[in-house]
Amino acid sequence: MSTLPSPTPPAPVPDLAGTAGGDPIATDPAVGVLGAGAAEPGVVAGARGGGPAGAADEPTGAPHAAIGPMAVGGSAAVGGSAGGDAAAGAVGDVLAAIRERLLAWYTVHERDLPWREPGTTAWGVLVSEVMSQQTPVARVAPRWREWLTRWPGPAELAAAPVADVLRAWDRLGYPRRALRLRECAAVVAQAWGGELPRSEAELRTLPGVGDYTAAAVVAFAYGGRAVVLDTNVRRVLGRLLGGEALPPPTLTAAERRRAATVLPEEPGLSARWNVALMELGALVCTAGAPACDECPVRDWCAWRAAGYPRDEHAGRRRTQAWHGSDRQVRGRVMALLRRAGDDVVELSDIEAELAGIEPEQLARALAGLVADGLAVRVGGDAGADQDAGGRAVAAGEPGDAGVPPVGYALPR
Ligand code: SF4
Repeated sequence: MSTLPSPTPPAPVPDLAGTAGGDPIATDPAVGVLGAGAAEPGVVAGARGGGPAGAADEPTGAPHAAIGPMAVGGSAAVGGSAGGDAAAGAVGDVLAAIRERLLAWYTVHERDLPWREPGTTAWGVLVSEVMSQQTPVARVAPRWREWLTRWPGPAELAAAPVADVLRAWDRLGYPRRALRLRECAAVVAQAWGGELPRSEAELRTLPGVGDYTAAAVVAFAYGGRAVVLDTNVRRVLGRLLGGEALPPPTLTAAERRRAATVLPEEPGLSARWNVALMELGALVCTAGAPACDECPVRDWCAWRAAGYPRDEHAGRRRTQAWHGSDRQVRGRVMALLRRAGDDVVELSDIEAELAGIEPEQLARALAGLVADGLAVRVGGDAGADQDAGGRAVAAGEPGDAGVPPVGYALPR
């Protein structure tokens, strides 16, 4: 249930580009202007949001002109004339003010997350990013510490048994991420001499590393300039510059262009801009209850200025209930297997533990876990062709002499 602030927009929003209908006003010249008035550059190490909503108390100053809805385009609608130059300059001034206020707020409100500590390696940043995808940082932080203590680098993780990796992943959810991380570690250890590559293109060649993770590593591990667009950043930019309640269900090229347009040119500063946007989305501009009265950029927020219009993408958003889902059943099975250590859990015990689950759903969950490499099926019929250690076993029927009952275990 969302809790929106009362729709009392601030001062009238000037349409700096004369494009209140949403035509593009983002300009490269504007980005150039943003270089002025920049806050002190700084490289950040790790930056994930996603934590519980908190409160910020950074006061904002006198009302400012909001930038007006900035369409997620890229071409210049200002410039090319004296009037256009003036408008571009005004837009640049507003963006510079937004940046200054946001970075000042971040300096005060930055959360103390372990991967932001000095000395965190690029690999540690990557691990934090993978763990934090779809998992709140409060749950990630202790797992991340344990993980890095046990497997400080790619070589150590690549050499670890799969079962140990899955147990260490614990309840972070989406355990395929753990398998992909281990695969990534093996590639980094073997093909990159144990050092993560430094470019987004090279990072994207690694198992489990997509656009977001590659950009996050470049920005937060190496202090490079990269467009880091996670859920929090998309939401903040969509509200602040786009005037929309929530971004589209899937990332669009237009969003990426807009984010690139407002990204500071200077690498260290751009990394800090990225992490500040993330933090604002995690702590203040939350999905369901944005604390606009405490927002450092509220005076320029297009969504607030427009009176908080409804989510125009609501009809296209899929909401997936967790309770009763296949994912929940898979999670319960994985918890059983983790608790069993190296032992096999017989199917009858799984069925007893998950009493109430439809047999078809349980069978689907078990088959999915095996197909995904998260579990192995042992004993029993002809489909059971390996034991928990991956060794071939004789096929047969449950109950046959010498044929073990069907069971499941973590892969080794
Ligand atoms: S950017 Fe700030 S003012 Fe705008 S919706 Fe988010 S919290 Fe509210």
